[in-house]
Amino acid sequence: LTDEAQAVLDEIEEKGVDFLRLQFTDILGTVKNVAVPASQAEKAFTEGIYFDGSSIEGFVRIQESDMRLKPDPATFAVLPWRDGRSARLMCDVIDTSTGEPFEGDPRYVLKQAIARAEEMGYEVNAAPEPEFFLFEEDEEGRATTKTADHGGYFDVAPKDLASDVRRDIIYGLESMGFEMEASHHEVAEGQHEINFKYDDALSTADNVATFRMVVRAIAAQHDLHATFMPKPIPRINGSGMHTHISLFKDGENAFHDDDDEFNLSSTAHSFLAGILEHAEALAAVTNPTVNSYKRLVPGYEAPVYVAWSDRNRSALIRKPAARVPAASRIEARFPDPSCNPYLALAALIHAGLDGIEEGLDAPDPIRENIYEFDEAKREEYGITTLPSNLGEALDALEADEVVQSALGDHVTEKFIEAKTHEYDEFRVDVSQWELDQYLEKF
Ligand code: GLN
Ligand code: MG
Ligand code: MG
Ligand code: MG
Repeated sequence: LTDEAQAVLDEIEEKGVDFLRLQFTDILGTVKNVAVPASQAEKAFTEGIYFDGSSIEGFVRIQESDMRLKPDPATFAVLPWRDGRSARLMCDVIDTSTGEPFEGDPRYVLKQAIARAEEMGYEVNAAPEPEFFLFEEDEEGRATTKTADHGGYFDVAPKDLASDVRRDIIYGLESMGFEMEASHHEVAEGQHEINFKYDDALSTADNVATFRMVVRAIAAQHDLHATFMPKPIPRINGSGMHTHISLFKDGENAFHDDDDEFNLSSTAHSFLAGILEHAEALAAVTNPTVNSYKRLVPGYEAPVYVAWSDRNRSALIRKPAARVPAASRIEARFPDPSCNPYLALAALIHAGLDGIEEGLDAPDPIRENIYEFDEAKREEYGITTLPSNLGEALDALEADEVVQSALGDHVTEKFIEAKTHEYDEFRVDVSQWELDQYLEKF
């Protein structure tokens, strides 16, 4: 037993935790868990807990299905319900036939990206800004799209009826050790955003996975449904998950340069150029649902065009103002909260590192509102567009070796398979919009 694992066992004892929820995610980013009584904690650390991987989306076939969960003691956190009697532990997934990490485990995919950064001398920091809607439930307890309040951007109570829920969510997350930064009512009715402090990339992905689970659970205690679906209501803002990234080298922010007009180092310029270069394929991972592309349309503060800016918010990447050199970073504005946070961060990191390795130069930032550009002007500036649907994004992924190698063979294959199926299902469906438009007209 390692010292870290022993410290967790002590904490379980001290806090009177009865159940451990050993968690991991499937390739779609859904949190899966196996609950074990606290009495099994030592065994979980020493031997691991076995489970059948064949029933997990994107894992393996039946004949090779034995998997083992290896809990990461650094992720121990008591969950903010059932009087603090259950705790989460994020796990790595081990392939029992080889004893090696399972290459279909999204957490492993992210660890590979972090390892590549480390080989280049960098530590990766990341911070997400997840947005979500709170909706009322109907009599049967099913989610509706009726918003729980009529507030707007940064409104306060009494207009913002959901602020009680948000407060409970924040207390809950704080009790788990999240360092909260800010929370506010977002632009749309019923829409909220909660920010937590940046951390190393792995902890941030673990935190996003836990965050979505905690938000949904606490909303449900208030008879509300929290959704991270990117665009639940047409023609108003959707929910993004802006992702801030910086690289540190020898304890210094490698993205900062006092002498640069934007205070961004050439490393940062190359990193963001790498993301721009691979944006179309990245979208398949950072915006992985049919619905994601309903958000990426002009006019709702979501990016559509492949460009960066130090000012406006219609660009794919923004350079936020930084008060101190340590805070210099880039903000990728295209990811949405339906993504698998491990795969999304892994893909962004690899694309950026590739930009550094290739010595890519970033284009000039765009300071005007790109939504207002016509095609000719976009062409003049060399601005391309994000895919307009999941099918196009998957085509771009199939043509992009950098993003594919970020995911690894196993995940690439399973991901494209699952997502192509999802897109095909959508393609053959007939929507309410079509019926409204055509049923009586023809
Ligand atoms: N909701 C917007 C999006 O889809 C962002 C709005 C904001 O944070 N200013 O990305
Ligand atoms: Mg924000
Ligand atoms: Mg926001
Ligand atoms: Mg933001």
